[in-house]
Amino acid sequence: MSGIAEALLALASGFATTFRHLFRRPITESYPEYKRPLPVRSRARIILTCDPDGEERCVACYLCSAACPVSCISMQSTEREDGRRLAAWFRINFARCIYCGLCEEACPTSAIQLTPYYEFCERDILKMVAEKENLLVRHCGKDPEYNFYRYAGVVTNVGGKGAHAKESAPVDVKSLLP
Ligand code: SF4
Ligand code: SF4
Repeated sequence: MSGIAEALLALASGFATTFRHLFRRPITESYPEYKRPLPVRSRARIILTCDPDGEERCVACYLCSAACPVSCISMQSTEREDGRRLAAWFRINFARCIYCGLCEEACPTSAIQLTPYYEFCERDILKMVAEKENLLVRHCGKDPEYNFYRYAGVVTNVGGKGAHAKESAPVDVKSLLP
């Protein structure tokens, strides 16, 4: 086949493809007019949730902070008079966050959760730093039942040692002596 014939064939094939697509329904989604509903497990903005009793779930254990590969979580722990731990302050730098979800995986209390909400970009990068009051929500998020202090084994207003779910009474170690 001559070079001219090959070129014409390629041209015809290209036009045929264009022609076929002229009659297809468009699949373009016009954002922001149309916002595709995202699955509930999509990983975007982070929240700090409360347990079913309405108390803050976060016990400021620093596990999320340790698991975070970009070190964008920081906090300071404190303790209430009833022995319940919580974060005195809690900060996430969303400008550094890569939305990997490792903090959520590491959290023993189901406090920190990623949500599908992604529309929170800012021109001023300092506004991407979220404090505890920006992160805390008064609901349980994806986990409507879990209450860490009902399983915790620490003395709080929820119960003393041995009084929690699936927990045995503390062993008197002296009773084990020969
Ligand atoms: S989603 Fe990943 S990067 Fe973002 S705060 Fe959690 S662990 Fe860090
Ligand atoms: S959010 Fe979870 S992992 Fe992070 S400090 Fe609070 S309880 Fe610990």
